[in-house]
Amino acid sequence: MGDVVLSTSRMNRIVSIGSDVVRVEAGVTLTALDEALVDRGGYYPPAPTFMGAFVGGTIATNAAGAATFKYGTTRDWVQALTVVLPCGDVLDVERGETRAHPDGYFELELSTGVTRVPVPRYSMPRVPKLSAGYFARPEMDLIDLFIGSEGTLGVVTAATLRIVGERPAFCLVLVPFDDRTRGLHFVERLRAVSLETRRTRDPRGVDASSVEHMDERCLALLREDGADRTNGVSIPGSAKLALLVTLELSPGTSAEQAFDAIGSATPGQVADSPIARFLTLLSEAYCASLSDAAPLEHVEIALPGDRARAGQLLALREAVPAAVNRRIGLAQAHVDPRIEKTAADMVVPFDRFGELLDFYDTEFARRGLDAAIWGHISDGNVHPNILPRSMADVQSGREAILAFGREVVRMGGSPLAEHGVGRNRTKQRLLAELYGESGVEEMRRVKRAIDPEWKLARGVLFGNS
Ligand SMILES: Cc1cc2nc3c(=O)[nH]c(=O)nc-3n(C[C@H](O)[C@H](O)[C@H](O)COP(=O)(O)OP(=O)(O)OC[C@H]3O[C@@H](n4cnc5c(N)ncnc54)[C@H](O)[C@@H]3O)c2cc1C
Repeated sequence: MGDVVLSTSRMNRIVSIGSDVVRVEAGVTLTALDEALVDRGGYYPPAPTFMGAFVGGTIATNAAGAATFKYGTTRDWVQALTVVLPCGDVLDVERGETRAHPDGYFELELSTGVTRVPVPRYSMPRVPKLSAGYFARPEMDLIDLFIGSEGTLGVVTAATLRIVGERPAFCLVLVPFDDRTRGLHFVERLRAVSLETRRTRDPRGVDASSVEHMDERCLALLREDGADRTNGVSIPGSAKLALLVTLELSPGTSAEQAFDAIGSATPGQVADSPIARFLTLLSEAYCASLSDAAPLEHVEIALPGDRARAGQLLALREAVPAAVNRRIGLAQAHVDPRIEKTAADMVVPFDRFGELLDFYDTEFARRGLDAAIWGHISDGNVHPNILPRSMADVQSGREAILAFGREVVRMGGSPLAEHGVGRNRTKQRLLAELYGESGVEEMRRVKRAIDPEWKLARGVLFGNS
């Protein structure tokens, strides 16, 4: 394409680690950051499920992890950035230092002169995660213009990130449901209880930081590939969905303490620990009484510190996209080389989520498409992925995604939640669905002001001029 590829992989120095912030170069991977923090008990929470990502890449895409429900997105954790602008100037931006003029612009004093950068006027949907072009808000902070800009405005070379001083203990629970509505109600209840725990800071309260979702088709794929057996997991054949819940416990909670806590959920005892309370919630959702051992019979638990079991449960979840990607590869090789991944990444306010799932079902069925849906249900953000059997399926899938996008915007959500826009034509059309052509034009004005020669990330977000 005539482009130059810039690698930041050697900018991999962790400059300093403090009690509540860390300074890193852009090419530090999230795995390296996590390893550096773990010994000190620290924790950087907004990691996407791809730990191989560089800090610079996560800032450029405003990546949001499974735990967005508790911790927000990368944006919430970026305190300062060093950015190299297309003109070669190096900008150090500290959160809180530079706000947009009330009349809607920034004035940047660059070596090329004073540059006026207009702030777009579109209003962003109120959703927990958003990776849909430039951030825009009256009197916004300059740092937010660069976060999520997908490398179109500058190259991030270093960042100061906030961290959590004390790493919580984690417990993973895999929960199957044989009724989707019941499963959705359980997530709704779990969200409400977790918010209450955070509000009251009750150490015995249930605190779910993430709930991952796999639909019936995902579970069938796992069975077909034997990923359930490989990971020592048994999911009942009747399950319509499975949830992978991450419960956070007080720092230092041991497996033994957690195990005792489960014991207290047996008949006649009062549930007074996070795990016991979680199982009580689950009993209610299953309509079982506590004396009925049903919840414990069906759930798979990885207690704190049991890395091997946690690894298996996470591997099961990751086996779903791997299963879909493999099938797409086979279809490319044996059916039509033009077949490609056709997937959506949309988010709606949680109270509209059930409605959106119904819409996905109807549209897929109407078009005769085979699809699997998984993702971050605690945020109302899942990824419908088509399993294309032909190029016609890919085309029909793209149309379905545009239809989803229109519906999601109507529901007050965003058709672009956490994977960004990039050069993908369908996603660029979704960006226009969200903000209108005029909104995209406002983004172009920002780009022209900062990168008049269109040097960086050509073709990303919008066309080349
Ligand atoms: C398997 C997988 C799972 C994922 N799961 C999630 C998830 O759960 N949640 C989520 O939010 N995202 C997810 N993603 C997307 C992921 O967040 C982003 O792909 C990732 O954060 C980007 O990091 P990277 O280092 O790979 O960047 P790249 O893919 O290399 O780059 C991404 C974009 O950022 C730009 N960029 C990269 N570095 C810089 C820099 N230093 N300065 C300026 N621009 C830069 C690039 O030009 C490009 O436009 C997933 C991706 C994969 C592959």
